[in-house]
Amino acid sequence: MQKKLIVAIDGPAGSGKSTTAKLLAQRLNYLYIDTGAMYRTVTLFAIRNKILGNNEAINTLSEKIDILLEFIKGETKVTVSGEDVSQAIRSFEVNQNVSDVSKIEGVRKILVKKQQEMGRNGGVVMEGRDITTVVFPNADVKIYLTAEIDERAKRRTLEYAQKGTKLPVSEVKENLQKRDLIDSNREVSPLTQSPDAIEVDTSDVTIEEQVSIILGHVQRIAKERNTKVEIN
Ligand code: C5P
Repeated sequence: MQKKLIVAIDGPAGSGKSTTAKLLAQRLNYLYIDTGAMYRTVTLFAIRNKILGNNEAINTLSEKIDILLEFIKGETKVTVSGEDVSQAIRSFEVNQNVSDVSKIEGVRKILVKKQQEMGRNGGVVMEGRDITTVVFPNADVKIYLTAEIDERAKRRTLEYAQKGTKLPVSEVKENLQKRDLIDSNREVSPLTQSPDAIEVDTSDVTIEEQVSIILGHVQRIAKERNTKVEIN
């Protein structure tokens, strides 16, 4: 049997991680795992349970919550106790609080362990902030996606508009900058570029181009590992 690879992707908000990772997973016939969705789900329930700021209660919540991640028709479906929260976890309120929840050491420990279990047999494309550094430091393929802040803000504003939420680009930019700052400076597993990760700047390339650049790296690395990947 061919060894299935672990493809790990990190990068700041709006760098194109989820779009790229989804397409890559489809082309490779691998599982796509959006780890941000897990931090967002804990945040959503922390808001609902009015426990923001109470780290102990949030730790207990992340231990107890049963997050089901599925990939259906090209989208991540997130279910908690039978409730589909896929839309709710993308709200602006969740965006505003998720980086503070993600700073909590206990939350990270619990979610990282779950992510390691999900990916341990390979055949996954996993994206987030600490996948190449903490979750799978020995991943077969390590990618760091970047893009200019104005480009990232433009993309996120468009995404919101497509989902019916009109926000000024300046407000979206401010939220991205704030999240980047917290994500990159937190004490526990901050967003950093792993020295052995391949940097792909997505500012001036199309999604198709960035997917094909990464697929090229996947094929090269598979060859080095004496394994084959089948690309759809
Ligand atoms: O990727 P996305 O923008 O959905 O992630 C939301 C937030 O979740 C990030 O801003 C970050 O605070 C947190 N996160 C994290 N570690 C990950 C994935 C996401 O801290 N592996």
